[in-house]
Amino acid sequence: MKLVVATFNRDKFQEISEILDDLSDLELIPAFKIKGLDSPKETSLTLVENAIIKARYCFERTGMASIADDTGLVVDGLHGMPGVFSSRFAGNDATYEENRKKLLKLVDGFPLSKRRARFITVVAFVDQNGSLHTAEGTVEGFIIQEERGANGFGYDPIFLYPQLGKTFAELPREVKNRISHRRRAFEAIKPFLKAWNDG
Ligand code: IMP
Repeated sequence: MKLVVATFNRDKFQEISEILDDLSDLELIPAFKIKGLDSPKETSLTLVENAIIKARYCFERTGMASIADDTGLVVDGLHGMPGVFSSRFAGNDATYEENRKKLLKLVDGFPLSKRRARFITVVAFVDQNGSLHTAEGTVEGFIIQEERGANGFGYDPIFLYPQLGKTFAELPREVKNRISHRRRAFEAIKPFLKAWNDG
């Protein structure tokens, strides 16, 4: 069975491939390997709608079952920002580093309670008949005061996972991938993927 993964982010694709590794006979095709596909505009103010926009776009262009995730980092002391704006927090073409710097500046001087934060991932899966399933995964942590670690991507160097006392960027990829928001969201969608894959 072929499943298009609606992302142009190679880091994300790598993580998703590892999480879905146990689904046998499933061939994952990243959107960046399909000619003529580009990133649809994420026009919604919710993660779930943006995930659906991306999955449906790939399904409509390819006719193949497609899956997308949309992730936001929600910081309590910033009333939920950057949230759905996580990728463009410091501007439309902002780099990961620019986004992190902006966030660090905004939380400067915040007490721990206001640094409480969570990654939220929503996954949208559209099967080859166009039927839609969605699922969500969350991981709780804190925004620290300076960057730590060189693994991962995005906000990983400033997101502390308190149970291990390390940022996501200090964890080996397989450890982040066992506990992450993305893992939890994809585990929650797996029953639908299994039923589709086995059927
Ligand atoms: P996207 O819209 O799902 O691509 O994610 C929005 C932004 O959230 C990305 O540009 C990253 O900055 C950030 N992000 C997504 N997933 C992760 C992650 O696993 N770790 C750290 N940052 C992430």
